[in-house]
Amino acid sequence: MKQNLILGLHSYEIISYSIIILSALLFIILERIFPYNKGQRVLREGFFNDFALYTIAQSYILGIIIFTFIIKWIDESYGVSRLQLFANVPIWLQLVFFTLTHDLYIYLMHRFMHSNKYLWRLHEAHHSPKTVDWLSGSRSHAFEILINQTVEFLPIVLLGAPPEVAAYKGVISGVWGMYIHANLGINTGWMQKIINGPEMHRIHHTTGKGRNKNFATKFAFWDWIFGTAYLPEERAAEYGLKTFFPANFFKQFTFAFRSYKKTS
Ligand SMILES: [Zn+2]
Ligand SMILES: [Zn+2]
Repeated sequence: MKQNLILGLHSYEIISYSIIILSALLFIILERIFPYNKGQRVLREGFFNDFALYTIAQSYILGIIIFTFIIKWIDESYGVSRLQLFANVPIWLQLVFFTLTHDLYIYLMHRFMHSNKYLWRLHEAHHSPKTVDWLSGSRSHAFEILINQTVEFLPIVLLGAPPEVAAYKGVISGVWGMYIHANLGINTGWMQKIINGPEMHRIHHTTGKGRNKNFATKFAFWDWIFGTAYLPEERAAEYGLKTFFPANFFKQFTFAFRSYKKTS
């Protein structure tokens, strides 16, 4: 089959990368114009760690491990994708289906990560940035990503969806992730009951009581349905962890496996 490749990439890959890069630039500009916390710099503390090591290097390596090893191995063991169960389902409908189902999973898993002491060790890294902005959401422990992205992309591959679906699903997750963490002082009104955004997710990153509320990622209605929504009148004051957390990417990785005996 003839494939149209530009610089070795399929057109859906070029579209996906372009949307991600343009969205990042758009959020950086909007954060300058409508900041929630004024005076936050783009090149803030931990920028290099979050951008070069988490967003670029970790995502690249995990992408290979998840797709080329884990998902491929599971698929070759069971061969479900050969049934092409979703082959005749329109791409937009597949995206709606996978976005909704994975978002319910991620709501429940996220909530569980806050209550289980072993999983909290993996999730802690995501709560460590003291500055919440378009980039800070990328800081997640490699094992948390490994679990959640395998669950995100395994059904897409097993149900025989075309590769565009996995690529566009990745774009939806990437752009929505930037949006909910963006330092934007916006008020979306009634939409905050449906579409999750920075208004609620910022509260989840505070050091106060909001940290055990607002577990939703893309759709806020999970929080409203399951009684975990929290939208106080007061402004978010302090973000991050109250406990020590290392500043370096590699130390952040190993810190999740520290002994429970030591107090830290
Ligand atoms: Zn959390
Ligand atoms: Zn977050």
